[in-house]
Amino acid sequence: MISVAILGAGPAGLISAISAAEAAGSRKISASIVVFEKNPNPGRKLLITGSGQCNLTNNSNESADTSEGSSAIEDLEKFLTHYGSREQARFLKTAFYAFTNRDTVNFFQRLGVPLTEREDGKVFPASFHAADILTALIQRCYDLKVEILCSAPISLIEFHDNEFSLQTGKSATRVFQKIIIAVGGCTYPATGSSGDGYLLAEKLGHSIVSPKPALSGISVLHHKLSSLSGISLENIDMTLWRAGKKILSASGDMLITHTGFSGPVVVNNSRAIQNGDEIVFDFSHQGENFLKTLQEQAQINGNSHIATLVQKCGIPKRVANRILEINQIDGTEKCAEITKKNLRIINEACTAWKHTVASSGKNTSAMVTAGGVSTKEIHPGTMQSRVIPGLFFAGEVLDIDGETGGYNLQAAFSTGMLAGKNAVL
Ligand SMILES: Cc1cc2nc3c(=O)[nH]c(=O)nc-3n(C[C@H](O)[C@H](O)[C@H](O)COP(=O)(O)OP(=O)(O)OC[C@H]3O[C@@H](n4cnc5c(N)ncnc54)[C@H](O)[C@@H]3O)c2cc1C
Repeated sequence: MISVAILGAGPAGLISAISAAEAAGSRKISASIVVFEKNPNPGRKLLITGSGQCNLTNNSNESADTSEGSSAIEDLEKFLTHYGSREQARFLKTAFYAFTNRDTVNFFQRLGVPLTEREDGKVFPASFHAADILTALIQRCYDLKVEILCSAPISLIEFHDNEFSLQTGKSATRVFQKIIIAVGGCTYPATGSSGDGYLLAEKLGHSIVSPKPALSGISVLHHKLSSLSGISLENIDMTLWRAGKKILSASGDMLITHTGFSGPVVVNNSRAIQNGDEIVFDFSHQGENFLKTLQEQAQINGNSHIATLVQKCGIPKRVANRILEINQIDGTEKCAEITKKNLRIINEACTAWKHTVASSGKNTSAMVTAGGVSTKEIHPGTMQSRVIPGLFFAGEVLDIDGETGGYNLQAAFSTGMLAGKNAVL
């Protein structure tokens, strides 16, 4: 009989348990699989994913060939560009080959969860209830006789004579042959993932890449657009500067918040943003051509109001009005009377809206943790530790962070599948 302990009943832990039990079953190996969960219930973070709707993976990089079992490498290469670094992509490649985004869809459909795919490739349960995904995972665990122990935080792991002794907060020590650490990162700690995995892994000899919040909005100094909080702007160009050096340029939808900015273009690049950076938005989509557009439109529409001119040139109404208000330009004045100086001011505000970053994300509100257990010490083909045989890792506890759009859950599912299967070998 092989005994496997899985730490954490999040998506990575639950799918690891299913994978281990299914692999043991198909090889006719007798296995005892126990999941230890710190919270009174499994999957607390999973329940709040995608605002409770659970964006479980992404199919936007699919090839035209959608027959079951096909997964072209070109698609995978594109899929991998949605993760934090080239090293992460290299590490994840085998796990994604072994369990693709298409496999995730097939897996949940097989468990009886109807799914739906949005135009942008994001996949959700058709009910848009994250609870349906969690229930399916838990039910499959029960069907496979996996034991899920809740209110059972693991506080210590010791490795002696090829066995692991696990100590939970209150109950006696239990001994296992294999363990999978799937306790998540350290952001949104109220959900249970509060960085325990780093301490447990460090004590077992693993290195930790310094964890920091990722996938987060930013707050800025002297926020002049806070009165527009809640407004989303489509396909905005963003540039990030540090000490006069351009750090990155990106485009995407942006959300104005009370304290700063959020939305995909900010959130997906937040791992690169540091306090004190200068963030610059081009609301016009036109860059250096915008001044010419303004001048031409002002000439053609001499009788229009300046506020109307700015909107006509592509700036959303409330943003246009606020920009004029901040720069003390009378929007009700006729275009025929606009000065060259004011045209330049409007151009500058619309194409290079600047702010200094006050805070680039907090642990309490960032969706994922960048950093974690160093993937250099993990075999990418099995998720097994290179330091201690029989020790496996899965999910966000690893130094892996994806963009929004289902990429983080897919990483949890793919690494969990691989860890579970290999733990019972
Ligand atoms: C608000 C929000 C929305 C999100 N939306 C999406 C989305 O739509 N799509 C997407 O792909 N990703 C999304 N994410 C990210 C995604 O939720 C995580 O990447 C994913 O849950 C990681 O899975 P995991 O199993 O590795 O860790 P977790 O889900 O964090 O699970 C770890 C589990 O381990 C338990 N645990 C911790 N310490 C111990 C211990 N010492 N002993 C025992 N158990 C322990 C925790 O209680 C927890 O249940 C979102 C995150 C947040 C915060």
